[in-house]
Amino acid sequence: MDAIEKVKVLIIGSGPAGYTAAIYAARAGLKPVLYTGGQPGGQLTTTNDVENFPGYPEGINGPQMMMDLQKQAERFGTKVNFGLVTSVDFSSYPLKVVVDETHTVQAEAVIVATGASAKYLGIPSEQTYANNGVSACAVCDGYFYRGKEVAVVGAGDSAAEESTYLANLCTKVHLIVRRNEMRASKIMQQRVMNTPNIEIHWNTQTEEILGDASGVNAVRLISNGERKTISVQGFFLAIGHKPNTDVFKGQLDMDEAGYVKVIPGTTKTNVEGVFAVGDVADRVYRQAITAAGTGCMGALDAEKFLVAKEMELAHS
Ligand code: NDP
Repeated sequence: MDAIEKVKVLIIGSGPAGYTAAIYAARAGLKPVLYTGGQPGGQLTTTNDVENFPGYPEGINGPQMMMDLQKQAERFGTKVNFGLVTSVDFSSYPLKVVVDETHTVQAEAVIVATGASAKYLGIPSEQTYANNGVSACAVCDGYFYRGKEVAVVGAGDSAAEESTYLANLCTKVHLIVRRNEMRASKIMQQRVMNTPNIEIHWNTQTEEILGDASGVNAVRLISNGERKTISVQGFFLAIGHKPNTDVFKGQLDMDEAGYVKVIPGTTKTNVEGVFAVGDVADRVYRQAITAAGTGCMGALDAEKFLVAKEMELAHS
């Protein structure tokens, strides 16, 4: 164990939520320290072009946007460190966080911005064509497939929503459902059924995504032991997300899916001084802009908390 690092505001995570929190906290003179996590820059580093973030009329490359956010946070004095939080102790104050199993950080306020990860099927071709025909976000990438034929895998509300979203842009959407029914709400299912250019493939699994250097061109499906190949240029995963909250289990209140619970309209968690921002506390919107928005809220909530804490100490 090395020496304990004492910080005022600790930000865990380096996506749009974490960096926006850092920009606001740094500009408020709170000298934030940010630990990046295992995937610096977060989910946007796995996207090519971001065209729906306001302020970029020509769009921006995802990794570039994250480097710009980091630079902006550092410009105001944020200290950005590479490291993965491996355990936390929020049972006493100041709050304690261990990075890379060896380094202890003691913080007066913690902003949790660890995000969520899209679930993948686990077949090798998903990685081969990642960003080259395979996507886990229709709202982010659907536009690049307008006028083309695509497949969506999943059967929940996300799959239903993403299929209908894509059906507006694409010539045809193949919805691949592994059972003989969908889990999505009835109204969302109805919307899917009523969309003429969505074809549902029931009892069907994805065996392989096929393509060449220019990207995906087909997908091989298997249904009741029979294989068929359909021609598609895009393959969208909509089989759920997993919030990156394992390390906070038993410390922060979470819903049944593991998303951190916050007091509605704020970023406050059940632990005083700990705030949750971005996808880690959002199972519905999951956009870079909403993450950035809550990142800002987290910094403002943390600042208010620290001011109140100082006044409390002054009067004690
Ligand atoms: P869900 O966990 O609800 O659904 C995941 C779906 O993916 C299930 O239908 C599941 O199939 C399927 N699936 C999982 N693994 C595989 C696999 N290996 N191969 C094929 N299919 C697989 O996730 P969602 O992202 O859809 O929704 C998460 C939450 O967010 C839900 O509470 C949902 O209601 C909410 N949501 C709400 C929206 C809205 O109201 N507008 C929009 C989007 C999400 P199976 O059914 O067979 O288990």
